[in-house]
Amino acid sequence: MQNKEDRLAITHLGEEQSKYMNAVVPPVFMNSLHVFDSLESYASHQEDQAYVYGRAANPTVHILEEKAAALEKGAAAIAFSSGMAAASAAILAVCHAGSHVICMRDVYQPVKNILNRYFIPKMGITVSYWDGIDLNRLEDLIQDNTDMILLESPATFVFTVTDIAGAARVAKAHGIKTYIDNTFCTPLFQKPLTMGIDIVMHTLSKYIGGHSDIIGGILVVQDEELGKLIRETIRELFGGILGPMEAWLGIRGLRTMHLRVEQHQQTAMEVADYLEHHPKVERVYYTGLASHPQAELIKRQQSGHTGLMSFVLKGDPEKAVKAVNSLNVFEIGCSWGGFESLALCPLINYKKEELEFLNLNGHDSGLIRIHCGLEGADVLIGDLEQALEKI
Ligand SMILES: *Cc1c(COP(=O)(O)O)cnc(C)c1O
Repeated sequence: MQNKEDRLAITHLGEEQSKYMNAVVPPVFMNSLHVFDSLESYASHQEDQAYVYGRAANPTVHILEEKAAALEKGAAAIAFSSGMAAASAAILAVCHAGSHVICMRDVYQPVKNILNRYFIPKMGITVSYWDGIDLNRLEDLIQDNTDMILLESPATFVFTVTDIAGAARVAKAHGIKTYIDNTFCTPLFQKPLTMGIDIVMHTLSKYIGGHSDIIGGILVVQDEELGKLIRETIRELFGGILGPMEAWLGIRGLRTMHLRVEQHQQTAMEVADYLEHHPKVERVYYTGLASHPQAELIKRQQSGHTGLMSFVLKGDPEKAVKAVNSLNVFEIGCSWGGFESLALCPLINYKKEELEFLNLNGHDSGLIRIHCGLEGADVLIGDLEQALEKI
């Protein structure tokens, strides 16, 4: 069972029912502005922090932010129209033209894409990639102009885990800001701000939303000044605030997140165990398995595991394509975190150099990533069994 404070934040925190005619569920504030009694009260709005215009703040969005800040033990949360809007906002808030950034090698690919296609060519930012594992190497990569370290743990494909407290310690000693994508663990299974990280990011489309029906993102920070910069300069002026309907669905998704993630985890443990013992499976990558190369570190910093894993079949990587196409319950699609189970071969078209960059080999191009949804372990194992029989 998750901790008490988290359960209360999920269910009740930030919901001032008396303001909303005692409705048990807060309304969707589908308005673009708020009005005032007089010009004087309009002119003084900044001092009393009233809501004025929807690009700056919205009451429904604010409830979601209050919950996210409490769950991550942060001082402020700022919600955006997507996870990538949130990630970009974090880089914009910390870096300036000419900054050097250290990026963990396995971070979400679109983050590397925005570095390559925008921040490097347009802002003269330079990037060094780090394997996420060797802290001495991290120290060696630091330059005089290093302003930010981008992390994700666990990270996609092979679920590499980084020593969050260790990386934060190295960064702090050099006055460098740290960012981590905590989407996989949700704030329930990992709280990076308590380990010294400066900025935590969550995508709402995954376990927070939980129903595959929203796009959104959120940043949570410990430092109020940094929070103010992100809210009042980056979000308000770049204009990337989360929509009120999405915020409302995010609040609704959150209400059952603690129950769902437990179920996803339990199912995934059974599926991972099944796959690990299957004669046609070469290797399973899952943070919940004792065979994960960083099992000790995982135990130290994560209190739970996701419904996501990946595995590689023995023999020709093309077998993976046949296996995935033979699945009936698992749908084929990107993303994850919803009620539905999903499967994908994310590396099948990767070139040799791209695999080498990730420290993977040609055989790994047949890696199958699955998300275990809420259909139940018996259903999913049955589906995998019949698909693996076909290869
Ligand atoms: C989906 C995902 C994102 C991107 O979020 P968007 O809301 O789609 O922009 C970022 N990080 C991780 C780990 C993700 O899975």
